[in-house]
Amino acid sequence: MKTYDAVVVGGGHNGLTAACYLAKAGLSVLVLERREVLGGACVTEELFPGFRLNVASYTIGMLQPEIVDELGLRQAGFDYYVRDPQYTAVFPDGRSLVVYPDVARTIPEVAKLSRRDAAAWPRFEADGARVGVILRKYFLMPAERWRWGDFAAEFKSPDDQRLFARFILGTTRDLVGAYFESDAIKGVLAFGGAVGTFVGPSTPGSAYSKAHHLAARIGDHLGCFGYVRGGMGALSQALAAVLRGDGGEIRTEATVERILIQDGVATGVGLAGGQEVRARMVLSNADPTHTLLGLVGEDHLDPQVVADLRSYRTDGCSYKVNLALDALPRFRGIPDGDQTPYLRGGVVISPSLDYLERAYQEAVAGRAPRRPYVILHFQSLTDPGLAPPGKHTLTLYGDWVPYHRADGPWTEANKAAFAEDVLDTVAEYAPNLRDVIRDRMVLVPPDIEQRFNITRGNIFHGDLVLSQLFSLRPIPGFGAHRMPIRNLYLCGSGSHPGGYVSALPGRNASTIALADWKESR
Ligand SMILES: Cc1cc2nc3c(=O)[nH]c(=O)nc-3n(C[C@H](O)[C@H](O)[C@H](O)COP(=O)(O)OP(=O)(O)OC[C@H]3O[C@@H](n4cnc5c(N)ncnc54)[C@H](O)[C@@H]3O)c2cc1C
Repeated sequence: MKTYDAVVVGGGHNGLTAACYLAKAGLSVLVLERREVLGGACVTEELFPGFRLNVASYTIGMLQPEIVDELGLRQAGFDYYVRDPQYTAVFPDGRSLVVYPDVARTIPEVAKLSRRDAAAWPRFEADGARVGVILRKYFLMPAERWRWGDFAAEFKSPDDQRLFARFILGTTRDLVGAYFESDAIKGVLAFGGAVGTFVGPSTPGSAYSKAHHLAARIGDHLGCFGYVRGGMGALSQALAAVLRGDGGEIRTEATVERILIQDGVATGVGLAGGQEVRARMVLSNADPTHTLLGLVGEDHLDPQVVADLRSYRTDGCSYKVNLALDALPRFRGIPDGDQTPYLRGGVVISPSLDYLERAYQEAVAGRAPRRPYVILHFQSLTDPGLAPPGKHTLTLYGDWVPYHRADGPWTEANKAAFAEDVLDTVAEYAPNLRDVIRDRMVLVPPDIEQRFNITRGNIFHGDLVLSQLFSLRPIPGFGAHRMPIRNLYLCGSGSHPGGYVSALPGRNASTIALADWKESR
């Protein structure tokens, strides 16, 4: 039986990335993916005839250009572009705010809501850019020879320390309040602090959840997000092409049931159906809980590691509604006539901090909020191949919905009721929305768990909270991708620097695995 140099559990974009780096270094690599499609949560599928939708992730920004270049992704067909505008926010009183990648172009927009906030906007952007520079440096390094404190120590000057307190340690509420006066502006800027992590705007550390995005970059546009041409799945397809080009192998519909361990060393994997695959190292793209408590098993782990994993914060809180549209809805609050220039980068419904706070508190009480925040994306507007001529794709994303409902489990009925609340929320701004919907798919945390095999449906494989970040991700003592079993590495979003379509955990894990590989030769 062939023994691979490396076997990767899971063909999500991070597993594929790690495999690409290992194959480029000359190792024999096999990726095993349980689904029939590659990409995990970075996937585009024909959900409805003729409509190709980003089933989970829908916008890109955290993928650093270094990785695009190192792997030659463009040569493999990958292309992405900045969203311009970044988004249009709509408010209940009929006002709107268009935010462009270009700060100078955004300022007059902000001035329509508050002159004072327009004056503060460039400072907020400049401070954010400064934080983004520091984050990017640490995101690109596995936490091997540095610790959380080294990252904190980067913020040296009094001004930088203020940024550390505001952007890293503080609350989203205080962060936006330090710069702005308008409730509308604060509401819009706070939504990013909510993404994928179960913290509210007033939870200490929630500002980090927003600050994480500051490391985003599309070409020269720092802190900006965009779309992958052909949908998010095109990135996963490009990674797979690079991997195959370098001799790597991929098997789909191959579910790993256990990681084989001999004398405390990972030696391969056991598949559903009984087959075993031998390897000199195993990398897991699955989440930390599934990897260690599921595939490795408690018997092989120190009780402290088991305890840390049990208290790892990984309850999912995100929802997604994927829609096929016969036409674009029309928005109140966006100028009449051709509205497409305002819709090209997406629409944000997050009208105030108190609105966000109410939604969060409902979820804390175990209820799906009646009025959640909603981020709308019509990628077919700038990528027409995703829908039949004249038709459109629309994805709705937001948080917070509880994984555990107070009134019992999620059912088809209460999920449908929640979806109606999401559509009602949007219809308050786009009254004809329901008239143009042709088909829909609704995902709440248990659906995300089932479809992507992510423990409790956490979109980042674990909350992005300070106690689970940098050298502490996923758990104390195991922040440098090396797991408690020798020759086992974590390469997915549950490792440094965390979730998003960034390929960073995959790249960082491969750096560590290759260093160990070279040392063992
Ligand atoms: C609804 C939603 C919206 C999101 N929106 C965005 C966004 O707009 N922008 C953004 O940047 N990020 C977004 N994210 C987050 C982002 O998609 C994820 O952080 C990222 O895709 C995770 O990549 P990964 O490779 O680490 O893990 P995954 O994508 O989870 O991949 C893991 C892979 O491992 C496979 N697997 C698991 N267990 C096994 C097993 N036992 N055997 C074999 N295979 C296994 C899975 O099937 C999967 O393919 C979103 C996520 C979700 C769910």
